[in-house]
Amino acid sequence: CGVFGVFNIKEASKIVYYGLHSLQHRGQEGCGIGTFNKDVVERVRGEGLVTEIFTKKNLEKLKGNMGIGHVRYSTSGGGGIENTQPFLIKSHRGNFLVSHNGNIINGDILKRELELEGSIFNSTSDSEIIGHLIQREEGIFIERVKKALNKLEGAFSIIILTEDTMYGIRDKNGLRPLSLGKLNGGFLLSSESSAFDIVGGKYLRFLEPGEILQIKKEEISSEKYRKDTQNKMCAMEYIYFSRPDSNINNLNVHSIRRKSGEILAQESFVEGDIVIGVPDSSLSSAMGYSDKSGITYEMGLIKNRYVGRTFIKPTQEERERGVRMKLSGLESIIRDKKVILVDDSIVRGTTSKYIVSILRECGAKEVHVRIGSAPITSPCFYGVDTSTRKELISNRLNEEELCEYIGADSLKFLSIEGMEKAFGKNLCLACFTGEYPTEVYGLLGGDNE
Ligand code: 5GP
Ligand code: SF4
Ligand code: MG
Repeated sequence: CGVFGVFNIKEASKIVYYGLHSLQHRGQEGCGIGTFNKDVVERVRGEGLVTEIFTKKNLEKLKGNMGIGHVRYSTSGGGGIENTQPFLIKSHRGNFLVSHNGNIINGDILKRELELEGSIFNSTSDSEIIGHLIQREEGIFIERVKKALNKLEGAFSIIILTEDTMYGIRDKNGLRPLSLGKLNGGFLLSSESSAFDIVGGKYLRFLEPGEILQIKKEEISSEKYRKDTQNKMCAMEYIYFSRPDSNINNLNVHSIRRKSGEILAQESFVEGDIVIGVPDSSLSSAMGYSDKSGITYEMGLIKNRYVGRTFIKPTQEERERGVRMKLSGLESIIRDKKVILVDDSIVRGTTSKYIVSILRECGAKEVHVRIGSAPITSPCFYGVDTSTRKELISNRLNEEELCEYIGADSLKFLSIEGMEKAFGKNLCLACFTGEYPTEVYGLLGGDNE
């Protein structure tokens, strides 16, 4: 998912709209914006893309200079309008809005407790729990939020908006990103810094794990709501999720991906005529591979715009149709060439298998697949739908078998050490290593055994 917040900037809903538009790659199932105009709160939400849900007319309804938004990518909880965010919590102590990116890993336990105490949930999303927990606590608002946060386990970057304050929060492992920016004397929060550029804002800094930032009038204050923090941001943000023009932890995503491609070339060089990347997420690493290997970078695959990200479409059939609609091969570039194809990751193997077949149809002499990350063998419980262990192809097939399955002449993955060299050491790599930075609350049973 993607979250975006605007504080003290006129026509806030328009700024949120542009922010969400530039975060659309993070989730396409639903979106929403909520604003405060003094104590009047308004919301527009729907299932679909940002450009489908918002209109000039409904944005005008969202008045005031404070607003937050959300683009949804469903992992737990499923679809439906009631699961789109921001959530609105209504209370005699004041209303507030919540946007959340991530996954609350002890959500089921907390929800059961809350329901026994009388909370009524309007959605099946784990994100709604945050609001109810805050609601149940006593004290001034920030103290209630901090108490609630200390009960949550898992991945969460959260933006909360009350009638006079905006909060930005990251979980104690910093699993999901969140950045602070400014614009015209007001402030912005965003899953990705590239959204600041789009609205003409300026990036200020990346939030810390376990941090709660409070933005009130022109003042910003920050504290740690817990001490036991560590930096374990999701490696997939660098590999796949984030836009190349985003900076994470002051590092530019494109440059980092490029470096991973260079390391990939060092680790698994192969003779070839051209290097091509799979648009968009693998172009940077393909450039790095080309640089380091001295083999020409070419544009061999063209992406059909306006088709959503394949992975985010829930069923396998939809996913396959999605891939087919999404890419075309450039025959004049590919014919009779030894092609090195760089992709960012293999999850179920659908994409690689299909792209190798496109390249063969276009007359490639050889196809050597190089992957800019290690084999994914463990499920993610932190809000990325890499699915169950059973569905992960690298769990069933070793490198050689997988090479045959996708129909390539050779296949190599980047090593874990290579990933650490490119992306840094302080990252969550659980889906590659099985070492989870949090307790997993029995989630490793069933299809995940
Ligand atoms: P597969 O087709 O092997 O199941 O998925 C891998 C492909 O899906 C890659 O090309 C990658 O760019 C894309 N992809 C889309 N969403 C995700 C995601 O959430 N995680 C990962 N690792 N890859 C994704
Ligand atoms: Fe990211 Fe993988 Fe960790 Fe999930 S398990 S947060 S996808 S690195
Ligand atoms: Mg891809």
